Amino acid sequence: MKFKIVSKGDNRSDKIKETMKRYLTDFNLVYDKEEPDLVISVGGDGTFLEAFHRYVHRLESTAFIGVHTGHLGFYADYLPSEIEKLVIEIAKTPFQVVEYPLLEVTIRSKTGGKEDSFLALNEAMIKTIEGSVVLDVEIKGEHFETFRGDGICVSTPTGSTAYNKALGGAILHPSLEVIQLTEMASINNRVFRTIGSPLVLPKHHPCILKPMVDSSFIIAIDHFTKSFTNVHSIHCHVAKEKVRFARFRQFPFWNRVRDSFVAEDKYLF
Ligand code: NAP
Ligand code: MN
Repeated sequence: MKFKIVSKGDNRSDKIKETMKRYLTDFNLVYDKEEPDLVISVGGDGTFLEAFHRYVHRLESTAFIGVHTGHLGFYADYLPSEIEKLVIEIAKTPFQVVEYPLLEVTIRSKTGGKEDSFLALNEAMIKTIEGSVVLDVEIKGEHFETFRGDGICVSTPTGSTAYNKALGGAILHPSLEVIQLTEMASINNRVFRTIGSPLVLPKHHPCILKPMVDSSFIIAIDHFTKSFTNVHSIHCHVAKEKVRFARFRQFPFWNRVRDSFVAEDKYLF
């Protein structure tokens, strides 16, 4: 089995990376940057997002796992104190894998040419540098609303605890193959009227966002941001590809949500 470790780059994460690398090579596993079967991210959720995007071209053959060196993360959910156990489990391969949905975003240009396509693990945020974002929102081929406001966030179920949550979106269990649209400060008056609630769309209901006024946007896919001009349309749907997480123990999603967001000091009262 081939593995690769991506570290956040701070002292603590680098040390854990080196320790794990040594243990795993002692077990005759091969360190391979190019074609790893398992990618171990050591750091936070941000590190995990980076690791995911570095190997996004080979999702079918790569599984991911996250060790956290800061607070508990949604993707980085193994403790540094668990690494000895983890290494033994990894060496005992084959390991169990769980698959979760991703978002695919395709940006078509007015000038034709090749489309830009991205996979997001957390979300895509459609924003603009100046003024408001004005977009026609089409769902499953039908006009739904005209949005005017700061922007639109389209998130995956595992991304629902990230930006989506800050925008008032629901937390979705990642066994649901859906995407969620949330509004960023929509303007509501007689001309512009939006639903105002987050929308959860199934696999067979793609959403197309079409520029009404300005066709320049800033689109953030997870942790990286890109500018686009002459945008004809932005297509969002549940991706065919999935992310594969290596699982060595149970840590139910709702326990992770509780431990991250709900106070743990239950014995105080
Ligand atoms: P960052 O500014 O360090 O991220 C903001 C926070 O979001 C960090 O605490 C990060 O955890 C956490 N996070 C990332 N993915 C998450 C998930 N799926 N569920 C729960 N929390 C999550 O930037 P970053 O580390 O590069 O991560 C980029 C992501 O941060 C974006 O995809 C976006 O979802 C999120 N974000 C959220 C807000 C907000 O809630 N208002 C603002 C900006 C960005 P770590 O500290 O472990 O990295
Ligand atoms: Mn971060």
